[in-house]
Amino acid sequence: MRAVAMEARGGPEVLKPMEMPTPEPGPKEVRIRVRAAALNHLDIWVRKGVASPRLPLPHILGADASGVVEAVGPGVTAFAPGDEVVVNPGLSCGHCERCLAGEDNLCPHYGILGEHRHGAYAEYLVVPEVNLLKKPQNLSFEEAAAIPLTFLTAWQMVVDKLQVRPGDDVLVMAAGSGVSVAAIQIAKLFGGRVIATAGSEEKLRKALELGADEAVNYTHPDWFKEVRRLTGGKGADKVVDHTGALYFEGVIKATASGGRIAIAGASSGYEGTLPFAHVFFRQLAILGSTMASKSRLFPILRMVEAGKLKPVLGQVLPLEAASEGHRLLEERRVFGKVVLRVD
Ligand code: ZN
Repeated sequence: MRAVAMEARGGPEVLKPMEMPTPEPGPKEVRIRVRAAALNHLDIWVRKGVASPRLPLPHILGADASGVVEAVGPGVTAFAPGDEVVVNPGLSCGHCERCLAGEDNLCPHYGILGEHRHGAYAEYLVVPEVNLLKKPQNLSFEEAAAIPLTFLTAWQMVVDKLQVRPGDDVLVMAAGSGVSVAAIQIAKLFGGRVIATAGSEEKLRKALELGADEAVNYTHPDWFKEVRRLTGGKGADKVVDHTGALYFEGVIKATASGGRIAIAGASSGYEGTLPFAHVFFRQLAILGSTMASKSRLFPILRMVEAGKLKPVLGQVLPLEAASEGHRLLEERRVFGKVVLRVD
C-alpha cells in the first residue's frame, strides 16, 4: 500500500512516501481504507524521537483518521465493509480496573494510534473494532478526521478536569492550535466566558469568530495583566494550557485565586519555574491531562452532528505532502487542523 513513513528520527524531511505491507485485520480488528488523516503535535514529538524513542523504523505516524471499512477480522460484529467511520485513537487493554472504570487513558497498557502502532498516514489502517465510530453524516472525511484527538483532549480538560460551569472565566492559551480550537467551543458549550490568547492579529480575529468572548495577544510581555483586567482584576477561573515553559509564569499570574489550570502539553519547553507562593497562597490547582476516555468521543460526535461543535480545517494537503504539513504545524502557520487527503 501507499504510505508516508518516517525512516529515521529528525526533521520533516525524514517523512518519505514509500510502499509498505498492507496490514491484515486480526480477531476483532477492522481494516479501513483511509480517506483522511489529521496531523497532531504528537506526530512531531514521535518524529523527533522525544516520544517513543525506541520505536522500530520505518514507522507510519498518524493518530486521527476517517475512512471506509474495507475488511473485517474474525469476531467483528458492529461494522461491515462499506461503513463510513471515524477512528478513536486511544488504545487500551479493555480488561483492567482502569479500563472497566471508564478510565482507559490511565490503563497501564495505554497507547495512541500512530505512536504505539502504525498510524493513519497510509492507504490502509488496521484498528480494533472498539476504536471505530460512525462518521457524522454532516461532515466530509477531512472534517471527520480533524476531530478525535484534539476534541478528546479538550473535552477531558474542559469538562472532566476543569469542570467549567456557566459564568466561569475560561482562559484558553494558543487559540490557533487544534486542542484550543476545540477547547474554545467546548468551554462555550458549557457556559464559560472564553478569553483566548494567540500570537497574531489574524489568529486573534479567528478565535473571536469561533466564539471566544475576548482575545489577548500573548506575545506582549504583560499579556497576563490584560487577562486580569478583562476579569475585573481577579484572573481566569479555569485555564486550558499546553504552551509550556515560556508562558507558564504568565499562566499562573493570569489565574484567579482558587482557580484550576489543566495542562495537556508543553510546546515551548518541558522545564519551567513554578512560583510556589502563588500555588499555595492563592490555592491554585494544577491538573495534568492526557487524551480522554474513549467514551468521550460519543458525546463529542453527537454535538458535532447537532452542529454545536465543529472541526476547523487550517490546511488540507495530499498524503504525499505530509512533510510539508509537519512544517506548517511546527511553524504555527495554520489556525486549526492540518489534514492529509488520501485519494
Ligand atoms: Zn486496561
